[in-house]
Amino acid sequence: MPLLKAPVTDLISTTKSLLKVTFLGTGTSQGVPVIACSCDTCISADPRDKRLRTSVLIEDGTTTVVIDSGPDFRQQMLRAGVKKLDGLVFTHEHKDHLAGLDDVRAFNFQVGKAIDLYASDAVQQAIRREFHYAFESVRYPGVPELNLITIDSRPFRVGTLEFTPIRVKHYLMDVFGFRIGPFTYITDAKSIAQDELQKVRGSRCIVLNALRREPHISHFTLEEAIGLMNDLCPENGYLTHLSHQMGLHSQVSSELPSNIQIAYDGLTIEI
Ligand SMILES: [Zn+2]
Ligand SMILES: [Zn+2]
Ligand SMILES: [Zn+2]
Repeated sequence: MPLLKAPVTDLISTTKSLLKVTFLGTGTSQGVPVIACSCDTCISADPRDKRLRTSVLIEDGTTTVVIDSGPDFRQQMLRAGVKKLDGLVFTHEHKDHLAGLDDVRAFNFQVGKAIDLYASDAVQQAIRREFHYAFESVRYPGVPELNLITIDSRPFRVGTLEFTPIRVKHYLMDVFGFRIGPFTYITDAKSIAQDELQKVRGSRCIVLNALRREPHISHFTLEEAIGLMNDLCPENGYLTHLSHQMGLHSQVSSELPSNIQIAYDGLTIEI
């Protein structure tokens, strides 16, 4: 039977699922536009200048994961049409990455079970403090059903996706970036130790935070992010967690090397 003689490698390459990444939010903690601000970026009509708080959706056709559940989580799930969620993975405990967690209730009701949250001890402490009502012995009906799963520096798996944590520094705070196969996602970083950077090298696609042009105590500037991209040499680099102070998407985009782009809300890439 000639069909059975098809090269196995061809079969694998045609059935291998791509990693699909959707930027759900690309703004810093205040989002863009900022309330009551009338700077050029905040009044821009360009949809790429409207930035919800930073988060990404990762899908491989089997498993669906969201990294962080900031204050815009509900709107992001609706906008991206997310119908199922296999887990939430957290970078750190700042409010702009955590505040929307209560809205996982929609997924609880849909599947009738708790949502798995992959979080460091520090993030778990914040979740238990800020969403205490979900952990009380006698709980009010309808509160979120949360299943906390501890992560540390060791790789872990959510369904078919394998995550390698990358420990980065956000001023004094430990934050996790994650490598998932050829893709690395790092938000809220100001510095990365060389041994952690080794885990990033070889990624075909890298996302880094870049807050603004002026120095900041806990975030990469545009120049620092471009410098690190040039060191890591991905085929494609994307910048996220932008402040309105960065300026217009169109202006910043025109200044970047050809392999680096500013991400924007709704952008989907396949790796
Ligand atoms: Zn942040
Ligand atoms: Zn502004
Ligand atoms: Zn932060």
